[in-house]
Amino acid sequence: MPDCFQRNAEHVASHRCTVLEHRWVNDRYKYLRLSSNAELARMTRPGQFYQLKCPSAAGQHPFLLRPMSVYGVGPEAGTIEFLYNVTGAGTRALATLGIGDAMEIVGPLGNTFVLRPEFERILVVARGVGLATMAPLLKAAAQAGIAITAIMSARAPKDLMRDEFLRGAEADVHCVFDSDDSSSVSNVDTLVRRLLAEQHHDAIYTCGSHRLLMLLQKVLQDHPPILGEVAMEQRMACGMGVCLSCVRLFDDAGDKQFLRVCREGPVFPIRHVVGEVEFG
Ligand SMILES: Cc1cc2nc3c(=O)[nH]c(=O)nc-3n(C[C@H](O)[C@H](O)[C@H](O)COP(=O)(O)OP(=O)(O)OC[C@H]3O[C@@H](n4cnc5c(N)ncnc54)[C@H](O)[C@@H]3O)c2cc1C
Repeated sequence: MPDCFQRNAEHVASHRCTVLEHRWVNDRYKYLRLSSNAELARMTRPGQFYQLKCPSAAGQHPFLLRPMSVYGVGPEAGTIEFLYNVTGAGTRALATLGIGDAMEIVGPLGNTFVLRPEFERILVVARGVGLATMAPLLKAAAQAGIAITAIMSARAPKDLMRDEFLRGAEADVHCVFDSDDSSSVSNVDTLVRRLLAEQHHDAIYTCGSHRLLMLLQKVLQDHPPILGEVAMEQRMACGMGVCLSCVRLFDDAGDKQFLRVCREGPVFPIRHVVGEVEFG
């Protein structure tokens, strides 16, 4: 069994937390810090996520819990951080929570990234909400003394959230934008290939863009020794492997299987992702 299928957390449960900090980072994203028990924060790994119970607000009653990656733990013991895009009913309701409010979270859910201590340098390619998912991986790599190359993709410079992504980690950062077309597939393809040619990289990780994922899958075909992993973002309901609403097809060298993004993932080998499924 590939090591990406590390066992999910053993003790998934619902936890009642208190809002310690909740503020806008820019005009679309909010930062949320919750107090939880120290054990919960301690066992949460990069790439894992929680199901957040959104409150009822403005006549909306979000029924399903909303999946959110762990953005970080700390700075104090027993605190968990999230960084989320306010998009629909659930996240709009979430955005109304005030300091001191109580909220329920379920987790930690899912698996984590493979980050080997012997790695010397990794390449992280992130866009949009992918930044929130990748930030703890950057922190873990920096703490392990692994050098980081980062490609950050955003609509425009004002959307980048560079400081929120790096959180003090040293990295060789390359920014690309839709606004000047530097984020185009051909440009990022050239950039990734140049960076891989210039320096040895042990692994590539991505999250937040299907377009970038497919591009990296192609690039990895030319670099067999490099590990490639993606944190998949898939619509899901229960988040713990029961409802099967988040299954996706994966192909491990001809061995095709439907896997649950919430349970076997959300982190998968980039090489196993099937981009388009043809029926009929
Ligand atoms: C494993 C995982 C980690 C995620 N981490 C983050 C994160 O760190 N920050 C962040 O901003 N967003 C993250 N997302 C996306 C986030 O779950 C959705 O933006 C959120 O559920 C939208 O809810 P809503 O009610 O505001 O939107 P609506 O569109 O009203 O949601 C309707 C339904 O669709 C689901 N849904 C809508 N968009 C998504 C989506 N992109 N992914 C999964 N389900 C969706 C909702 O959960 C809800 O059940 C993550 C998704 C997954 C699967």
